[in-house]
Amino acid sequence: MAAVRVLLLGGTGEAKQLAHLLDEHDSFHVVSSMAGRVRDPQLPAGEVRIGGFHGAEGLAGWLRDNAIDAVVDATHPFAAKMSASAAQATRETGVAAVVLRRPGWRQRRGDVWHRTPTLDGAAQLLRGLGRRVLLTTGRRSIGAFAGLDAHHFVLRCVDPPEPPVPAHLEVVLDRGPYTVEQEHSLLRSHRVDVLVTKDSGGSMTSAKLTACRELGVPVVLVQRPPVPSGLASAETPEAALEWLRARFG
Ligand code: NAP
Repeated sequence: MAAVRVLLLGGTGEAKQLAHLLDEHDSFHVVSSMAGRVRDPQLPAGEVRIGGFHGAEGLAGWLRDNAIDAVVDATHPFAAKMSASAAQATRETGVAAVVLRRPGWRQRRGDVWHRTPTLDGAAQLLRGLGRRVLLTTGRRSIGAFAGLDAHHFVLRCVDPPEPPVPAHLEVVLDRGPYTVEQEHSLLRSHRVDVLVTKDSGGSMTSAKLTACRELGVPVVLVQRPPVPSGLASAETPEAALEWLRARFG
């Protein structure tokens, strides 16, 4: 029997894990797709393609041209445009689809969290929470904070940001995972008053929340955009693999 052809929309650790799991099974042929934003991406196992599809219509055409049987949307919880395209293209083509999305973080005793739906909301909240800010919201988020001249920002990201940027900005180029000790040291050495992060979920980058709890540093948490409705979902790579196996026998 021919292998089931899976398009895996990636850019996350979970996508890489699932690519590895699928690559080990002869009954699946996986093509991982990355946006091409990171200069030196860590490539997953199996076939890889890089770059956008030109919207939902472009993706629908790509699915037909490449005889894809199933799409796994394992993009980051904040990659809302790609998820919307995937939902529309799979609906239009009738290709099976599952969303692999890790759960958001849970507030624990001792956490001081301020939730907001947008980066602009986070920038507004900062006015009352402290002057020295650690930003882990990604380099492309920096524009939302560009007007805050009274604050000092430390932006931790994989690649350098582009203008507009805030007047007082330090950039720390790094890539997770991080330990609680590393996060303690970062918060202390930069005398951070407040952390701004997206509710990415997962264990790769959650140490900063533990460190903030332990040091009494408040956190501004940008909430996730909604997941497109009506699609099957899985919270782990293993669960997504099970879904594919059940769907394709
Ligand atoms: P986005 O706003 O949802 O996507 C913008 C456009 O980038 C999409 O419309 C699509 O272009 C292209 N694209 C996004 N993901 C793609 C993929 N996996 N394969 C091919 N094209 C893709 O996404 P984003 O927030 O810019 O994120 C880009 C990538 O970085 C995603 O793969 C995501 O998993 C990863 N990532 C994002 C974040 C975050 O905080 N947003 C964090 C870590 C990793 P076309 O319309 O031309 O198809």
